[in-house]
Amino acid sequence: MNRSKKMVILCHCILNANSKVEGFSIHKEVQNNLVNLLIKEKYGIIQLPCPEVTLYGIRRWGHVKEQFDTPYFREHCRNIFMPYLNQIIDYVKNGYEIHAVIGIDGSPSCGVNKTCSSTKWGGEVGVEFAINEKVNDLKIIQGKGVFIEEIENLLNQNSLNIKFLGLDEENLSSSNNIIEHLKKCNL
Ligand code: SF4
Repeated sequence: MNRSKKMVILCHCILNANSKVEGFSIHKEVQNNLVNLLIKEKYGIIQLPCPEVTLYGIRRWGHVKEQFDTPYFREHCRNIFMPYLNQIIDYVKNGYEIHAVIGIDGSPSCGVNKTCSSTKWGGEVGVEFAINEKVNDLKIIQGKGVFIEEIENLLNQNSLNIKFLGLDEENLSSSNNIIEHLKKCNL
């Protein structure tokens, strides 16, 4: 691959579906399509760390945004992003272009356009603990995940204007749309 001087930043599980909450790595076609297209278009790729695996491990339960909206998780997000922020600053200073941060829509951490939400999700699991009520309260809402919010804040604080794009894993055309968007914005 030649030095194109154009790059994207990908949320971790686009390249490594193993990091997802178990049972959720079922839409690999969309990720594969996106990565193939990015390589074809000669994008350099920076893979972010997964904020959930690096705190809760691979056997974590699925969470909602409200559970991650804590000072501790936000601090963790900032801490793991800092080495990448420094890389971005250095690349940009030396004439490289970072065209987008690409997140995972629906994720409580990495959602860009959509995230998952519930005011009831959490606590003990079991019928005696109103598990059905908790499950029924789960919903996808408009909004960013916590990691993306923290990344956006850090980029803004450093006057780095990088767009955010969300990959919709349930929609195969989402990867094509991202590439088309990148092409249009960088003509
Ligand atoms: S936290 Fe982000 S990187 Fe980790 S599995 Fe979820 S969407 Fe992927």
